[in-house]
Formats: sequence, structure tokens, C-alpha cells
Amino acid sequence: MSQPGRARTIVQFEGVRRHYGNQVHALDGVNLEVALSERVAIMGPSGSGKSTLLHLACGLDEPTSGSVKVDGVNLFDLDDDSRTRLRREKIGMIFQTFNLLATLDAIENVSLPLRLKGLGWRESAKRAEAMIERVGLRDRARHKPDELSGGERQRVAIARALIFEPPLLLADEPTGNLDTATGQEILTLLDEMNRDLGITILLVTHNEAATAHCDRALTLRDGRIVGEHIG
Ligand code: ADP
Repeated sequence: MSQPGRARTIVQFEGVRRHYGNQVHALDGVNLEVALSERVAIMGPSGSGKSTLLHLACGLDEPTSGSVKVDGVNLFDLDDDSRTRLRREKIGMIFQTFNLLATLDAIENVSLPLRLKGLGWRESAKRAEAMIERVGLRDRARHKPDELSGGERQRVAIARALIFEPPLLLADEPTGNLDTATGQEILTLLDEMNRDLGITILLVTHNEAATAHCDRALTLRDGRIVGEHIG
């Protein structure tokens, strides 16, 4: 239950370890609380556990010990179907490589999650079109990914990730394949989505400039949070 005057916690890691065998401690005792509408950057060298942290935050991977809660629900108290439903309703994801379906145009990519949920094609297309417009791609709506620039592809991916207006967006190096100026445009779009829709953003990045768009930046090393910088 939320307490007055205290922001709702949307992601909570308590004593989270993710070990592979005895040797690899991908995460090694992570405690983390992210409030609704916060923007948090996760930095750290390659191999420090950033991707593992994102996979655990969306329940695609299970901790060896400790708990991961999203909006107060322990992801591994749920059965597979309920966890999939929670992920669909509460979590959007974007990636460095965009992960769009090549044979579908922008509207079709964005409407796919709605279609999978059982919404009719007409209503799905209408909602997808509104979201495409919101990310500034009205004129490119009927283009397939290979007819779009990198920045445009990431905009489509953002529209798809946010089609249910989830409280949480997980972003894995979203500017990693973009030039500096286009990367800035994408970060600015994420700022707008945070401001207008109140979406929480957990952003894995190597890009120092991206931390300027966040409220906090955490540094991971060897599976532990070793630093925190308040923006
Ligand atoms: P980052 O995203 O910061 O580069 P990762 O979370 O991908 O780091 O990896 C953290 C550590 O866990 C690395 O040492 C990596 O090699 C190891 N690791 C990740 N996935 C696996 C796996 N499936 N099996 C064994 N080791 C893994």
C-alpha cells in the first residue's frame, strides 16, 4: 500500500545475487529502489552486470537469491503466464538493436502487442497511429524498418514499448547504434515520455551524456553497485 508523501516504488531489488556456477557472480548483492517516474542510469564497464540487472528487472531471468519486485509484486511469486502478463502491462523494453520485425511496417510493429492481447486490427491500428504520431513519425508510419534511419527505428521501438503506457521502461543502450545528434534526439524523446506519461526509465548506457537526462546514475562493478551520482 502506498504511504502518503512517499513516491510509489516501481522497482525493488533486495539482496539480489545472480551467480553462474561458483565462479561467475554476475550480480552479487544488489539493493535498489526506483520510484515511479524516476530516471535512473546504470553505468559500468563491460561484464559488470548491467544486462543481467535489466533481465532480472523484467523477470526474463531469475535471481539465485534475493527478490525483485515490480510495482510491489515479487516476479517469481507469479506463474509464467501471470509474469508474462505483468511484463506486458507494466514494462516496456527498448534495445540498442531496436528489435523490430523486418516484414512489418511501423504501424504494424507498434500495433503487434495490442493484436497479441486480442484487440481488433482497426482499434489496434488507431492506437498505434496515435503513438507513432506522438514519437514524431507520422510521415513514416507505412515504412518498414529497412526504409527507416536508425533514429526513426528507435522511435518506432519506443512507440511499441509504450503502447500500453506502462509505468516502467527498461532501455538497454538505446543510443548505442546512433550518432551523437540522433542519440540526443532519442534521449530528448524519452524525457518527453517521462514528463508527459510519468514513465519510469531504467537506462543502461555507456554514454556519459545520457546521465544528464537522468535523476541518478549508478555505477556497477563486478556485480555490485559501487557508486551513485545524483543528477
Ligand atoms: P554487462 O551487461 O555489464 O556487460 P552482463 O550482465 O552481460 O554484463 O554480464 C555480467 C557477467 O556475467 C559477465 O562476467 C558475463 O560473462 C557473465 N554472464 C552473463 N550471462 C552469463 C551466462 N548465461 N552464463 C555464464 N556467465 C554469464
